[in-house]
Amino acid sequence: MEFWYSEKHTNDIKFSIRVERQLYSGKSEYQKIDVFESKEVGRFLVLDEFLMLTEKDEFIYHEMISHVAMAVHPHIKKVLVIGGGDGGVVRELIQYDSIEHIDLVEIDSKVIEVCMEFFPTITQSLQERRVKVYHKDGLRFVRGCQNEYDLIIVDSTDPFGPGEGLFTLEFYGNCYKALKEDGILVNQHESPFYTEDALACQKAHKKIYATFPICKIYQAHIPTYPSGHWLFGFASKKYHPLRDLQEERWNKQKIKCKYYTTTLHKGAFYLPAYVEELLKNVE
Ligand code: SAM
Repeated sequence: MEFWYSEKHTNDIKFSIRVERQLYSGKSEYQKIDVFESKEVGRFLVLDEFLMLTEKDEFIYHEMISHVAMAVHPHIKKVLVIGGGDGGVVRELIQYDSIEHIDLVEIDSKVIEVCMEFFPTITQSLQERRVKVYHKDGLRFVRGCQNEYDLIIVDSTDPFGPGEGLFTLEFYGNCYKALKEDGILVNQHESPFYTEDALACQKAHKKIYATFPICKIYQAHIPTYPSGHWLFGFASKKYHPLRDLQEERWNKQKIKCKYYTTTLHKGAFYLPAYVEELLKNVE
């Protein structure tokens, strides 16, 4: 008897992974949490029926959401990660000796607990001395911050449920305030392909574009995400993601990546015509 995990990418499109066994199923105060084991993508995390990460392709997402800003801003010392309870972003950032402190604000402590048990290679850095973990709502946390961070990374779920507040004008405005005068905000920015995802992407872009002087979008191919074409937001008070890319400085640090390179960095900001139009329509 075969057992498949299926995620509805639209009402008429389903994405399925054949499951060897279910490792965990539980409900926290915020969401349903499931962990499965599969032959093809290894273990994978599902929140409220939505696939969050798989062992096979999580490196793509976590490298692309973490290293692009690190290759542009010349002196990132203090970082705020909102969401990211699986630890993947922190694992990427901790490779930089130049980073002095990382605040991780994850609303759901159960996600961290489950990921520590079933994804130890992804959560490995959460106990680093430079990392402080808060079990708080990122929307409320950032309200109390002023001129504090060089980089904010919003590694959230999608714009509904607990993640909804992380796609609001208020939140982006508070991120702007929480950043130093040359700070950068990077966020997971949904996808341009299916109608609902494209709408969410446009809504977020419109708000961030209204908040930051420099607001660019870049892309990566993430096989297990809806359509595989995934976007990230790069919003900046001072640095341009291409003009201020510091290729030589970044390459000299010998940061270990399987997906990100400074050459790919440049290509990632060159978007398909339909995506450029989608974004232009809300600028
Ligand atoms: N990093 C994974 C990936 O590869 O896409 C998935 C993202 S991570 C699991 C998303 C996290 O955002 C979840 O753990 C969720 O609990 C957290 N989250 C959602 N809303 C939040 C909020 N308002 N404040 C802080 N964390 C939130």
